Amino acid sequence: RAISRYSTAAALEEPIKPPVNVEYTKLLINGQFVDAASGKTFPTLDPRTGEVIAHVAEGDAEDVNRAVAAARKAFDEGPWPKLTAYDRQRILLRFADLVEKHNDEIAALETWDNGKPYEQAAKIEVPMFVRLMRYYAGWADKIHGMTVPADGPYHVQTLHEPIGVAGQIIPWNFPLLMYAWKVGPALACGNTVVLKTAEQTPLSALYVTKLLHEAGLPSGVLNVVSGFGPTAGAALCSHMDVDKLAFTGSTETGKIILELSARSNLKPVTLELGGKSPFIVCEDADVDNAVELAHFALFFNQGQCCCAGSRTYVHERVYDEFVEKATARALKRSVGDPFRQEIEQGPQVDSEQFEKILRYIRAGVDSGATLETGGDRLGEKGYYIKPTVFSNVQDDMPIAKEEIFGPVQTILKYKDLDEVIRRANSTRYGLAAGVFTQNLDTANTLMRALRAGTVWINCFDTFDAAIPFGGYKMSGQGREKGEYSLKNYLQVKAVVTPLKNPAWL
Ligand code: NAD
Repeated sequence: RAISRYSTAAALEEPIKPPVNVEYTKLLINGQFVDAASGKTFPTLDPRTGEVIAHVAEGDAEDVNRAVAAARKAFDEGPWPKLTAYDRQRILLRFADLVEKHNDEIAALETWDNGKPYEQAAKIEVPMFVRLMRYYAGWADKIHGMTVPADGPYHVQTLHEPIGVAGQIIPWNFPLLMYAWKVGPALACGNTVVLKTAEQTPLSALYVTKLLHEAGLPSGVLNVVSGFGPTAGAALCSHMDVDKLAFTGSTETGKIILELSARSNLKPVTLELGGKSPFIVCEDADVDNAVELAHFALFFNQGQCCCAGSRTYVHERVYDEFVEKATARALKRSVGDPFRQEIEQGPQVDSEQFEKILRYIRAGVDSGATLETGGDRLGEKGYYIKPTVFSNVQDDMPIAKEEIFGPVQTILKYKDLDEVIRRANSTRYGLAAGVFTQNLDTANTLMRALRAGTVWINCFDTFDAAIPFGGYKMSGQGREKGEYSLKNYLQVKAVVTPLKNPAWL
């Protein structure tokens, strides 16, 4: 067996001092940083130690009311929807430039608050945020309706109008990227926004929204309320002056969001929810490459990805070799202080997620799966978990059915393509799927048969601003990113007027 790198990892050493200060901890309402109306704050914690990073204003229903009033006014009375599309575009472009300039501080805040490797935040996530903002800025002046032919003497046109005030609720696993996926299209289309960040990770959104105002965003157009789901989040979902909701998080909370919309003003809802995505290694696979990709598909971001390849189906012909090599790869994974350059895996985001993952690991052992490596915490403080691999996993085990959201790979054996299609699809989720094969026919069969919003073939987690993302079944409703995301934030108005003596129809 390979020698474990995590046994000597930095998780056991003193945490590195983050190269950034926390400057913004208040709510951002109507262009101003303000305390919560209640005066309350909540601590945001360092996942490396469980210690307090900062106390952040805790918004609740009253603060949501203030934020919605500001967004309403900025929408109804202007200036945002009344600016030209080119003006809105230039603000978003300036914003992207400012974020790019502050790349390293923003990445450090994200790592400190979330626990993700600094290299990942600084080299992938903040640059992707910039890319997303530029992409949506590009759309701002390309949104337009159509002239539509009618069966009679009418001039018919469609106007694509902003919906109004968008309420957006984001999770903690990719705080910045979830902000960009939601705020980017909403603002490009001329909407105003109230954003509720996740209680685990409030810091980066406050920092970048300050930069957005520096870029020229008028007051009230984007308001950020830090706080908890059942208070601030629920108030936003129930608010009669919010015209649209977008949510990313768990499927259970997604159901609550839909209910709150239905019980208030039936605002349309976009949902990005959980997943239990299959990663299928076919019999022709080059095992070394398949192991590496399957490892990345599951362990990236501490396993805290809604689209994680969390059911690794391996053809029986290559199964034993795959299990052995996947185990060796997990043993080599470097786990430790996410501010260290060589680190692949930091701590889980908080004690709740940490405990939940350890419970799933125990459930895996209890249900008879083979624990190949890992299985417990690493170090005595913080929320580090050893990269864990289970083999001999059966479809009906909890670890194969439910979202673990942690560094736990579950490997299942299959015999033929029809069988693996049936098993891969027998889940209430349908967010993503991975396929690893050199055979074009197999790839073509699987890409159509798999019931998922994204199918990655011989790659995984390949994201770009232009590629749509979203779920089938209970993984969500609607698509984010790409051109598809614009329609979440636009109303279509048909305008009809009779034609007198038209030259043509
Ligand atoms: P969650 O769904 O409870 O939280 C996501 C967001 O929703 C947060 O901002 C939260 O404050 C808000 N929220 C919670 N309850 C709400 C309510 N009643 N009304 C309005 N907003 C509310 O997720 P979680 O508790 O942080 O994590 C639980 C599980 O969800 C994870 O273990 C994981 O399986 C899954 N998850 C999925 C994603 C994803 O990207 N799909 C992200 C985070 C978590």
